[in-house]
Amino acid sequence: MKETWVYSFAEGDGKNKKLLGGKGANLCELTQTGIRVPPGFVITTKACLAFLNNPERKIPQGMMEQVSKHLKKIEGLTNKSFGGEKKPLLLSVRSGSAMSMPGMMDTILNLGLNPDTLKGLIADTGNERFCYDAYRRFIQLFGKVALGIPDELFDEEFEKIKSKAHAHLDVDLSRDDLAEICTVFLQVVERYTGKPFPHDPFEQLEIAIKAVFSSWMGKRAVDYRREFKITSEMANGTAVNIVAMVFGNMSNNSATGVGFTRDPGTGENVIFGEYLVNAQGEDVVAGIRTPKPLAAMADEMPGLFKELMELRNNLESHFKEVQDFEFTIEEGILYCLQTRNGKMNATAMVRTSVEMKKEGLIDTKQALLRIKPEMLEQLLFPRLDPDADATPVAKGLPASPGGASGIAVFDADRAEKLGHEGVKVILVREETKPEDIHGFFAAQGILTSRGGKTSHAAVVARGMGKPCVAGAEGITVDVRLRQAVIGDTLISEGDTITIDGSTGGVYLGELPLIEAEFTPELEKLLSWADEKARLKVMANADTPGDAKRALKFGAMGIGLCRTERMFNEPSRLPIVIEMIIADTKEDRQKALDKLLPIQREDFKNIFIEMAPRPVTIRLLDPPIHEFLPQEQQLIEELELLRNLRKNLRGMRKLSEAVTFMYQNEPEKPIVQLSADPELLDAVILKKDMILSKVRSLHEINPMLGHRGVRLGLTFPEIYAMQIRAILEAAAECKKSGVTVHPEIMIPQVCTAQELKRVKEWVIQIHAEVEDRFGLSIQCAFGSMLEVVRACMRAENLAEEAEFFSFGTNDLTQATFSFSREDAENKFLPMYNMSHILQDNPFEVLDVKGVGKLMELAVRWGRQTRPDIKVGICGEHGGHPASIEFCHKIGLTYVSCSGPRVPIARLAAAHAAINQP
Ligand code: ADP
Ligand code: MG
Ligand code: MG
Repeated sequence: MKETWVYSFAEGDGKNKKLLGGKGANLCELTQTGIRVPPGFVITTKACLAFLNNPERKIPQGMMEQVSKHLKKIEGLTNKSFGGEKKPLLLSVRSGSAMSMPGMMDTILNLGLNPDTLKGLIADTGNERFCYDAYRRFIQLFGKVALGIPDELFDEEFEKIKSKAHAHLDVDLSRDDLAEICTVFLQVVERYTGKPFPHDPFEQLEIAIKAVFSSWMGKRAVDYRREFKITSEMANGTAVNIVAMVFGNMSNNSATGVGFTRDPGTGENVIFGEYLVNAQGEDVVAGIRTPKPLAAMADEMPGLFKELMELRNNLESHFKEVQDFEFTIEEGILYCLQTRNGKMNATAMVRTSVEMKKEGLIDTKQALLRIKPEMLEQLLFPRLDPDADATPVAKGLPASPGGASGIAVFDADRAEKLGHEGVKVILVREETKPEDIHGFFAAQGILTSRGGKTSHAAVVARGMGKPCVAGAEGITVDVRLRQAVIGDTLISEGDTITIDGSTGGVYLGELPLIEAEFTPELEKLLSWADEKARLKVMANADTPGDAKRALKFGAMGIGLCRTERMFNEPSRLPIVIEMIIADTKEDRQKALDKLLPIQREDFKNIFIEMAPRPVTIRLLDPPIHEFLPQEQQLIEELELLRNLRKNLRGMRKLSEAVTFMYQNEPEKPIVQLSADPELLDAVILKKDMILSKVRSLHEINPMLGHRGVRLGLTFPEIYAMQIRAILEAAAECKKSGVTVHPEIMIPQVCTAQELKRVKEWVIQIHAEVEDRFGLSIQCAFGSMLEVVRACMRAENLAEEAEFFSFGTNDLTQATFSFSREDAENKFLPMYNMSHILQDNPFEVLDVKGVGKLMELAVRWGRQTRPDIKVGICGEHGGHPASIEFCHKIGLTYVSCSGPRVPIARLAAAHAAINQP
């Protein structure tokens, strides 16, 4: 059978973009819908590949015959003849692949002109100036695209004639000027190629087709595909569209323009775009004259404007999507030259989804599916105004999205102090530590010069939804001098800076921000998402403030409340340290007694905020040395203190002597030198104790060490205090009429025995509290699944646990035996580059390995307890692809940071629609 290389617009399959390219397929679709398109046909991408794969770059056999056959049809439809001296048919030869690659490949207009057809065109149109203008454009475009002649050679000649004619713009050129330009241009071609310009229209056509085919492998196009990761599965080869020319530059009843069926900036249901009267296609974009907004057409060409509005409605009702289209009006007749789905920002996507659904153009599923969940990110964080084009002074990693401005501050305490005074600050550090947490609360954003996207700063900032730029290595931070240096720029404390956590940019001064916009449309869209989704979406939230924000984003509960974050506040840390360094149970209990009311208050406020939604509280997880200062820091401090103490002795002697001498003048300043040695001794003693504690707590692999439930079982008083705080808070809430659903979650579990022991305490304290308050409390008991063994023993653990929550950060570390920081800093990037691993498993859930383990654990857990609630609370819980997987393996909920909740809600709906 003979291969079909060519399809007319009337017969091509509008759905087959791979074969016909996006432009070609849509031109077929338009033609077949009855929308007026100039007649034409598409040469397939397959023909292009056959041409490119031929070592001699020959057009495939039979193709040109098919082209001629289709040309005849166009001639019939237009009543013109290609190469004819009367009513000559001119063509455009346009590229177009399956993926839109704007500006990467070329289009030739007005093809078919030569001295003879030019005469015919003049006779036909009676407009000599127009004809010469078309001819000179054709010679230049063909020369450049098809013959590879540098544009400058034409431009130079053009400018010469323009200045000779004292013409300001090209529209000032006369017929004679343009005719002269044509002659000169033909000479340029002959000089450059050594051959006369091809006058035979069929030869022109063949050369043009080959040139468009070849442009697929041109450097520009190849680079573009690499940059935008367009694979050959997505688009392979370009189609060639041959279209009869229509002329928007024939008269004042002609025009050309581009439009969007709705405003792509706001989504408003109004036509958007520009047009130019008496102009040819590329003039609108080329900025030859200033185009007018389409709305102006209502006055200038009312009848045609009505037609344009009809075209707009027809396009939308056919494609069920906002369209980005091109049109030309020739002597009062409107032609559509191209259409494709409009690219819009997130605001516009959300608004058009809601409105098109309400208009009945699309259904709920389509309204949800047309928006990529990640896109919502734009709406959920304040961001830098894209119109403020400032140049960053440094670049780091985009670690937590959004923009923020404030004065640079170099330590957490000052950040907190200034923050409380209402000053906007950016916390700037080399890297951050858990004890900097209060600085995070007070800051607008965080900037670090070290660490990756998963550094402490990045993780905590994301959790809080604060912008963060991490690892900006061009910046040297000097905390002691309270300054940062970027090349020869100095940022001192108090200088205003702006960071963009979505791009990693760091800027001097304050840049304008666009506030996050949780619009009624977004709420509407997300309410549809919730109806379709099966997965519930919870938030990770550690404080009442976090909880409040999470609620605003539509969290259906708290899936992870980390109690250690509460321990890190500066007012509590000393008590926590006391608890840790206590040598006896009694001393420890004393400290815990002080912590109990504080924790109870924390929980109570979170419960009240979230009532009546579930709140899952994880008991203490990290190794306790994390709450203590670093060994090196202690050693240095002790040395200073001891030196001071030594000098103090001398000072004291001296001061006594001096005091004696000046007995009659007691107010002499030197007397004040006598500090309090007893106090100093006490401080030294305490620091010494902390130091020896730090040393005794030292672990080789703290992440695999004394933490989580292991720690809880070693010091039962700690967990007992937390359990009591939770249950008492619940009881107090219930007493005051607040409905609460607390859940206690145990971290780092690897055996059912661990759960059993802690559960006994829970049961005991539960009974005690109920008894004391004289009421009953519901409280679920569950386990984290973040240890491989726990997954393997899920069947067993489910006997004790009423719910499971996958901690996929730890589970990923354990499954790969990768320590996260080391992996990400040392070899993971190389693994990704060389495709040993496709993704970073800490960012994209490793479905094949970690996911398999999860799938098995869910199945085994449900064998014991069919209705067991299973969720995920690692960072993956907010990642759309991971959410899809969680849906597939039947999880009950995902939990993620507050600002990612809307993204997760949409992703959960996508998952449910795509795999019912
Ligand atoms: P691009 O993909 O770069 O937009 P096109 O193939 O769409 O290139 O062509 C560029 C411009 O040329 C179009 O916007 C249109 O205005 C004009 N054009 C293309 N084909 C024709 C035609 N048959 N008649 C009139 N103008 C045309
Ligand atoms: Mg176009
Ligand atoms: Mg964990």
